[in-house]
Amino acid sequence: MLCDGAMGTQLIMRGLMPGECGMRWNEERPDDVVAVHATYVQAGCRLITTNSFGGTRTMLERHGQGDRVLNWNRKAATLARAAVDRDGWVFGDVGPFGDFLEPLGDTTEDRLFGIFCEQIVALVEGGADAILLETMSDPAEASVGVRAAKSVSGLPVAVTFAFQNSAGEFRTMMGTSVREAIAAALEAGADIVGANCGTDLNLDDYFALAKELKAAAGSAPVILQPNAGAPKNTPEGDCYDATPEEMAAAALRLRDAGISIIGGCCGTSPAHLASMARALS
Ligand SMILES: [Zn+2]
Repeated sequence: MLCDGAMGTQLIMRGLMPGECGMRWNEERPDDVVAVHATYVQAGCRLITTNSFGGTRTMLERHGQGDRVLNWNRKAATLARAAVDRDGWVFGDVGPFGDFLEPLGDTTEDRLFGIFCEQIVALVEGGADAILLETMSDPAEASVGVRAAKSVSGLPVAVTFAFQNSAGEFRTMMGTSVREAIAAALEAGADIVGANCGTDLNLDDYFALAKELKAAAGSAPVILQPNAGAPKNTPEGDCYDATPEEMAAAALRLRDAGISIIGGCCGTSPAHLASMARALS
């Protein structure tokens, strides 16, 4: 199954200022959010991810919008629901809460559980079909997220970690290996496990990562959402420049490696996903 690609860069192309809160558009520019979802649906994506990556109270408070958690997450799911046709599904998107659990930070697991529950309840109310906890680095944080999702809904829960190549091994920013991260997510009750994004990984790295994920996941379906190749440093910041054709070739390799759900992360656009859809069909 094909899920979608990046949301933030698509909103920036429509006028969102870098650093501005993209979730604000769920309320103020809903037609633009639906239009981005619709371009991914037209590209052939069947699993559409809500515009709610920074939707925890802790992340929205950075924009002074902590009181919008319920409203903006509910709207995020409603907008994605409006864009998928009868054959599509809505992934309620949950990103990292933006700080560290104890003892590195001062957030307790109980408090984090409440933070995740608050966001996920709203995504479920808005019509999410499944919950996606993505770009995770800390297996403890991911586990709290899975337990929160399971406590407020009966929906399937997917967890994806962001890995980097650390001295020849894939590890999260917290130093967690693929095997440890996936085991923690499964033990907490995740139904689907995998990876998204990543630091300095090229398309060959994602293929190697796919094989490790499959080995770690056992019988659980694996999801992988690679970036559009490795980032190139430019004066304007990181630039991901894999072509749609290169992403299509990568998608075929990931499917052959046993990945069940394939999508895109940083640098991927509807053109990339359309090319991937044609290759996988
Ligand atoms: Zn990314």
